[in-house]
Amino acid sequence: MFSNRLMPFIAGVIAVVVSLVLWQALSSMEQAHLEKRVQMKAEALADDIGSRMEARVLALVRMARRWESRGMPTRDEWESDAELYAAHYAGYQAIAWVDPSLHVRWLVPRKGNEEAVDRYLGFEPTRLSVFESARTRREAVLSGPIDLVTGGKGFLAVVPILGVEDTEGFIVGAFKGEDLLEDILPAETRAGGYLITVLNGDTVLYSTGSGAMPQKAWAEKGVDLYGRRWSLRVRPSDELLADERSSLPEIILLMGIITGLAFAATIHFARSAREREAEVKETNLELRNENDKRRRAEEASERHARELETANVELEREVVVRKRAEEAAERNASELKRSNEELEQFAYVASHDLQEPLRIVAGYVQLLERRYKGKLDADADEFIDYAVDGAKRMQVLIRDLLTYSRVGRHETYSRVDCGKVLDHTLESLKASVDESGAVVTRGLLPEITADAAQVEHLFLNLLSNAIKYRGEEPPRVHVSAEREPRGWRFSVSDNGIGIDPKHGERIFVIFQRLHGKGEYHGTGMGLAICRKVVENHGGRIWVEPRNGGGSVFHFTIPDREVDQ
Ligand code: ADP
Repeated sequence: MFSNRLMPFIAGVIAVVVSLVLWQALSSMEQAHLEKRVQMKAEALADDIGSRMEARVLALVRMARRWESRGMPTRDEWESDAELYAAHYAGYQAIAWVDPSLHVRWLVPRKGNEEAVDRYLGFEPTRLSVFESARTRREAVLSGPIDLVTGGKGFLAVVPILGVEDTEGFIVGAFKGEDLLEDILPAETRAGGYLITVLNGDTVLYSTGSGAMPQKAWAEKGVDLYGRRWSLRVRPSDELLADERSSLPEIILLMGIITGLAFAATIHFARSAREREAEVKETNLELRNENDKRRRAEEASERHARELETANVELEREVVVRKRAEEAAERNASELKRSNEELEQFAYVASHDLQEPLRIVAGYVQLLERRYKGKLDADADEFIDYAVDGAKRMQVLIRDLLTYSRVGRHETYSRVDCGKVLDHTLESLKASVDESGAVVTRGLLPEITADAAQVEHLFLNLLSNAIKYRGEEPPRVHVSAEREPRGWRFSVSDNGIGIDPKHGERIFVIFQRLHGKGEYHGTGMGLAICRKVVENHGGRIWVEPRNGGGSVFHFTIPDREVDQ
């Protein structure tokens, strides 16, 4: 199968080839027709030449026969006969009587042929052989081509005069080829566009047109004349060819080529139009698909936008809710702070203001004890003891509460040497250290930025607890500090009774105690004060059990600038 793309080309080629074949056929038909015409023309001309030459030779033959039957005529008789024939038939150069020795004796017309009179005609082989041949054959013979004595190409017609024993000479017609044939060939034929050449052997007797060279013939025809064969070559002239040849084949060729090209172009354009249409259809389809896709995408994006909008609205609502919650939390925090502050203020005021009446109560109760102990009954002594004890405990409680409330009031930050603070603390605790036989050791303690009084409270509470809640063994307390990325972590470890981890949080709450006042005296304020001090410095405090018994209290103090 040919590819579709080649179709127009193939159709065009086929159309052109068909018209070429048609053109070729028409041309050769026309050529054949023309050749036939030329052939027929040549045949007609050959007949003409034959018959007319025969008439001329027959005139000579008649002269010879009269001579033979009547005997030798007088010269005048003969000349008048000869003149008659020469005048009747054009083409004669001369008519002569040639005697048996081949000398020209009588000659008509004399004018122009003077040179030939008495001339011996055996002076060259062609002439000699024609006389020989006429003598032997005893009939009229034509010679080959000769150069006429009077000039020009020609030939001789030789008729022997047959005597009883030998020839009595010859009647000879000398013909000039050109004159003869111009007379014989019809003028209209020569003028009518045919180029004619007549050859006697190889020599041109006559030629129309371009001189003596024989032209390439379309038709060649032989003319047999008294022992010689002439040939006649005919071809049409260019003018005739131009006239005769129709331009139909060329027109058909041209039309065929144009039609072929137009056909090919039509197919091509039709095909490309079809292809174009198909392409346009396809493009339209793609475009439609594309549009559909785009519409769907737009719808989806609209949906997304709506969803986003809804989400935004919800988010905004959430933000508002959160903001309100934050505001509420802030309000609560500041409320809490305010209430804490009020509480602290109240605790401070209460503890501070309670001290004075309490001191009076304690003072008078103690006075009562000193004056009346043992002077009243046993019940009264016991009551007085309770009152003294209660007043004392109340005093300690109030003092601790006051200390707790004071943490954070009027604080001043400075560089505090923790080693020195520990020294000072140990001095304060000297009595209980000595009494318990406690051993307090320490690691390297740093200098920190803090409120010195608060740090001393911190150390004092932790160390006194470590000694107070001792086990069987004398207390061994170790104070150390470790550097952390943003501050110091202090540890106070003891070998005391330890703390159940489930109470790890509770012990730092105000008034919370794990033991009754019968076991260990105290108010439950010490660790609460510790936590308040640590948190006031931005740190954290917690307790862990110590390996091998006892507890380890840890607290952190972050770094800070002195001036803050
Ligand atoms: P207080 O010592 O006046 O009772 P604290 O607030 O100092 O009050 O301590 C709270 C409780 O924590 C104490 O009652 C005690 O039971 C426990 N505690 C404190 N320190 C130690 C310690 N080093 N070893 C064991 N228990 C302790």
